[in-house]
Amino acid sequence: MSAKSSTAVKEIEVFNPATEEKLGAVPYSTTDDVVKAVEAAESNFKRWKDTSANVRAELLHGAADKMRKHQKKLIELLTLEQGKPVPENEEEMEWVINTFDYYAELGRHERGRVLPSNEPSQLNIVVKEPFGVVACILPWNYPLLLLAWKVAPALAAGNTVVIKPSELTPLSTMYMMEHCLDEFPKGVINVVNGLGPDVGETLVKHPAVRAIAFTGSVATGQRIASLAAPAMKKLHLELGGKDAFVIAEDADPEVTAKALAYSALANAGQVCTSTERVYIPQKRKKEFTEAIVEFVKKLKIGPGIEPTTDIGPMIGPTFRDKVANHVEDARAHGAKVLIGGSVPKNFDKGYYFEPTVLVDVDHSMKIMKEETFGPTIPLMEYKSFEQAIDYVNDSEFGLGACLLSSDPMKAKLFFEDVKAGTIWINDPLTDNYAGPFGGMKLSGGARELGQEGLDGFREVKHVHWEFATSAKSYWFPYGKKG
Ligand code: NAD
Repeated sequence: MSAKSSTAVKEIEVFNPATEEKLGAVPYSTTDDVVKAVEAAESNFKRWKDTSANVRAELLHGAADKMRKHQKKLIELLTLEQGKPVPENEEEMEWVINTFDYYAELGRHERGRVLPSNEPSQLNIVVKEPFGVVACILPWNYPLLLLAWKVAPALAAGNTVVIKPSELTPLSTMYMMEHCLDEFPKGVINVVNGLGPDVGETLVKHPAVRAIAFTGSVATGQRIASLAAPAMKKLHLELGGKDAFVIAEDADPEVTAKALAYSALANAGQVCTSTERVYIPQKRKKEFTEAIVEFVKKLKIGPGIEPTTDIGPMIGPTFRDKVANHVEDARAHGAKVLIGGSVPKNFDKGYYFEPTVLVDVDHSMKIMKEETFGPTIPLMEYKSFEQAIDYVNDSEFGLGACLLSSDPMKAKLFFEDVKAGTIWINDPLTDNYAGPFGGMKLSGGARELGQEGLDGFREVKHVHWEFATSAKSYWFPYGKKG
């Protein structure tokens, strides 16, 4: 287990997935702790909502500055508790810091609009206002990035927050709270720790929590939605994916191999937008397949903390077993494993899985249908570009999709016809703070980043304001006017 909990010992132990050694522990929040955290957020909400946008911006920029100072330690903690290699955690911290700086500015930019009124003596104003207390429930694969994408816009919009990190990766969050988010007024940012069905559900069900920003699995998202429904709480859900990657006939095999390896194997394939299924043109199948296998062969597996590591461990045994199960299911139904497919033999400890390339897969197999969330590259051939697009859309998920091609007609067809929240053409998995990120279909409909990422934490009020105080001719009584 990478994390253990017990209400008896009142702590969550955190383990390094590369070595299975204990890294530390955080206190397990009792029901009373959760209630106190929500009450603190609730009682400080009005003051924070009425705080000048400039002051809020200064605090958000201040937090970003502190993160810059503590970056080295945060990168180390992320690497040790989550497992991905240092360069990927350096990138995560860069995104986190930029997100705080970005929302510091966006938060003071506007909070609504003025409409043309129907009467000259009226003003019609659309006001965007915070929800109140927002629960931010986070997964383990990007512990601080996904915190930043929720907490920074939620605070910039004037909400107060209660954060629940994943029970597998709470250490970086606790460090961030203590060293980087400590200047915010008391009660504005609160944290609770514990297991989802226990601490997470207590938080979701608390009547003062008015919005729930959640990133995680579809099953948990559905459970949270059902708990939130009776009180009609605002849901902001970022769920799983099964992202497709289409290689067009004109793509270069060497570049394709590198782009695909990054897209499918970064964070050992544990990115919500990891490439999980690949469509390869029948006419150049051999060339592309060979280039991909040759490139993947060279990648080095090891602890994320070692500078030469390309692919770190997976987060834990359950997640690794799921990948092995998907590979076995594919094999049993006729797929061929060209490279990888097993737990590497050269590690006594740690949750490693070999980067795995498969061919002869189809959509009846789990590896092409369900979220695998591991280092797999299943290659399925297509005959025409239209067929490739049909394959991409043949999924319950709609998070992201990638295309490699320099043909603008294909690129246009791809982004117009593929049902997914993000389309990458020739540069998979890049982010831009100014643009929205999120999914369609089962992947959830929330949008993070950009203006949409701020609006996700605000609700809209239309104010009709009449300056003349005389009675209107269209009021009662209807029968006798004047
Ligand atoms: P998870 O759903 O198991 O857990 C996520 C969080 O929810 C954790 O903090 C957990 O404790 C909490 N939780 C679990 N059950 C709960 C409940 N009943 N009530 C309240 N909270 C509960 O997901 P995970 O394994 O931590 O993360 C991996 C998943 O996250 C993958 O499916 C991945 O695709 C998804 N993900 C999506 C995005 C995105 O932006 N769409 C980004 C990253 C990860």
